[in-house]
Amino acid sequence: MNISRQVNLQPFNSLGIEVYADYFSQINNLQDLAAARCFCQQHGLPWLLIGGGSNLVLTDDFAGLVMLMAWQGRQLVTCAELHFPTQSAPHIGYWQVAAGENWDDFVAFSIEQQYFGLQNLSLIPGTVGAAPIQNIGAYGADIAQVLQEVQVYDFANDQVFYLTAADCQLAYRDSVFKRRTDWIVTQVTFALSCVPQVNVGYGDIAKHLQQVIKQAPDTASPQQVREAVIAIRQSKLPNPDDIPNVGSFFKNPIVTATQYRQLLQEWPQLVAYPQADGAYKLAAGWLIDQLGWKGHRANAVGVHENQALVLIREPHGTAGGKEIMQLAEAIKANVQQVFAVDLQVEPRVVGAQGKI
Ligand SMILES: Cc1cc2nc3c(=O)[nH]c(=O)nc-3n(C[C@H](O)[C@H](O)[C@H](O)COP(=O)(O)OP(=O)(O)OC[C@H]3O[C@@H](n4cnc5c(N)ncnc54)[C@H](O)[C@@H]3O)c2cc1C
Repeated sequence: MNISRQVNLQPFNSLGIEVYADYFSQINNLQDLAAARCFCQQHGLPWLLIGGGSNLVLTDDFAGLVMLMAWQGRQLVTCAELHFPTQSAPHIGYWQVAAGENWDDFVAFSIEQQYFGLQNLSLIPGTVGAAPIQNIGAYGADIAQVLQEVQVYDFANDQVFYLTAADCQLAYRDSVFKRRTDWIVTQVTFALSCVPQVNVGYGDIAKHLQQVIKQAPDTASPQQVREAVIAIRQSKLPNPDDIPNVGSFFKNPIVTATQYRQLLQEWPQLVAYPQADGAYKLAAGWLIDQLGWKGHRANAVGVHENQALVLIREPHGTAGGKEIMQLAEAIKANVQQVFAVDLQVEPRVVGAQGKI
């Protein structure tokens, strides 16, 4: 394992923030992880694992070792080869994928190979290993629907172990990995279907299939759904290569039915989605939009002009993570003051010593 010194992390985070890591290495296998662990222990250093850097806000130079997850590999295995063997299901294929694989490359590959289930999650930036961390989701799907098992390296104890999907405690933008930050996902196994069933009931997918791709939604192929999702995402979300961002900056807050009804009296246009347990998930973007933040700019950071949930950094500006977080705090405070709703930041915020 090679360790470099004083490495600029700008190319490794989608906000393009220029901060430096005291030490930096690439992780290509288990030996690299074990060596990185020894290095951190010997020198008493904090560590940070980065995948695609698309869900990170770096507020300072990092006074430790940054590890870039670059481990590659994909293989189709039988149900008997799983760590937790399961009953044979002829229409299911189990794909074991290394954590450093690019997420969307794997989505494209799986569809080419005629294994389906990931098409609605097309074009989400980042790595396969990061997908379980916040149970990535979009267009009516999330990886909880296809996750079979996960291989984990415990950085605190130098141990490899496996988790079932249930062990991962996947929930809305949440998982056990948000609480066990010493656990590094090294491989994810997906149970994908050979039957080309599609889910076109969310957002504009059906409309796009009909009007642009000229395909009846109920007979659309997974590849056509992927194309629709990509086109819709590209029309709505800023590309971080042009406008640095981390996608949605806040989670959609969940409130009780009582709180929802109170808000509805004052705000009849409130956008909310009923949950199975009787609670309501509010559209955070709608709350922020009502307060006039869309298009806001100050200190070389701002709120995207079409997406109130997306905070941006001006591409050639000097703003860093601190300016982004000041803006996020101002928005949070404003939403709290007006709606009495607590917004939670979605990306991981990291300072000189680690997670803040
Ligand atoms: C334009 C844009 C659109 C987006 N759209 C969506 C969307 O539709 N749905 C959605 O859910 N998300 C979305 N995101 C957020 C982001 O793409 C996902 O959260 C993605 O999974 C992050 O992957 P990453 O490899 O970039 O993680 P990073 O940003 O590198 O890391 C994020 C956190 O996960 C940890 N981590 C990374 N890899 C591992 C690992 N192998 N083991 C343990 N911990 C790890 C890191 O330490 C860090 O704390 C979007 C982001 C952008 C920029």
